[in-house]
Amino acid sequence: MEPLKLGLAGIGKIARDQHLPAIAGEDRFILRATASRHAQLDGIAGYREVGEMVAACSLDAVSLCTPPDGRYEQALAAIEAGLHVMLEKPPAVTLSHIAALEQAARNAEVTLFATWHSREASGVAPARAWLADKVVEAVRIEWREDIRLWHPGQEWILDAGGFGVFDPGINALSIATAILPGELLLETATMDVPAGRGSPIRAQMQMRCGTARVEADFDFLQTGPQIWSIEVDTNAGTLVLTMGGSVLHIPGRPPQTEADQEYPRLYARFAELISAGESEIDVRPLRLVSDAFMIADRREIEAFAF
Ligand code: NAP
Repeated sequence: MEPLKLGLAGIGKIARDQHLPAIAGEDRFILRATASRHAQLDGIAGYREVGEMVAACSLDAVSLCTPPDGRYEQALAAIEAGLHVMLEKPPAVTLSHIAALEQAARNAEVTLFATWHSREASGVAPARAWLADKVVEAVRIEWREDIRLWHPGQEWILDAGGFGVFDPGINALSIATAILPGELLLETATMDVPAGRGSPIRAQMQMRCGTARVEADFDFLQTGPQIWSIEVDTNAGTLVLTMGGSVLHIPGRPPQTEADQEYPRLYARFAELISAGESEIDVRPLRLVSDAFMIADRREIEAFAF
């Protein structure tokens, strides 16, 4: 079968670090064009806007790696041109945007794949399997990273619609919603927003999963050790996922880890969804973040500069 002709939008950090190598290693896609306001790739047709790219090239699919604000218009342009669309996380800035994209994809009979790359980390599927028949007693989520190290100069991330510390924090929620055997309900939240910015640099969420308390602590000002961990106390001991879900500790077993395959798995899944004529959109992590923005006790803190 001929590979699907792919356009890639938003040639920034994640496009270069992960999407380009994953696409190069997946023979069901061939990269034919990019859409980015400033960046271009040698030997690949480059356009400034997604609309321009889809009008000029005969593509089958588009993958969006732009910041979330603006993604709705870009995805809609591709869907309305009859192309399959893969979205980086978070899939949109609002729940109404993602609902509208889902409907548009259904009308156009194309695949819409809202990805959650952290769910493809090697510990996540075995964690879900182990937890399936356990009683969850308490959950502690700690996602603490240094914004200056991982998001250098990404001013958009602290704008309204940039998600702030929920940009990484939503990865933890994407894992928690995938592995816990019940739905998460948000009860209270706090957000620390630097003066003059639109999104939080620190946040805490207090949730419930059945009778279990679920505490999440997200911090973008972590220096020293970087922490991306989820601990789940159960009736059979404590399961711990560290390194963003890639290392799994199950009581009584040696730690489990595998080489990072998150993005190759996402592109393989995108190809499968296209060939099955299906879409995959799970809004639960976005809904929890949206709920946090709705009810959080919001505190203004000192200004932040990169
Ligand atoms: P980034 O380095 O800022 O790259 C995004 C690119 O999108 C920019 O380089 C920019 O290229 C383009 N762009 C289009 N409209 C833009 C706008 N209004 N403001 C800023 N840039 C705009 O960001 P990233 O880290 O790759 O993140 C992009 C998405 O991937 C986010 O949703 C993020 O959550 C997700 N993600 C990031 C990581 C990570 O480790 N960084 C990991 C997983 C997922 P032009 O200037 O050429 O248009």
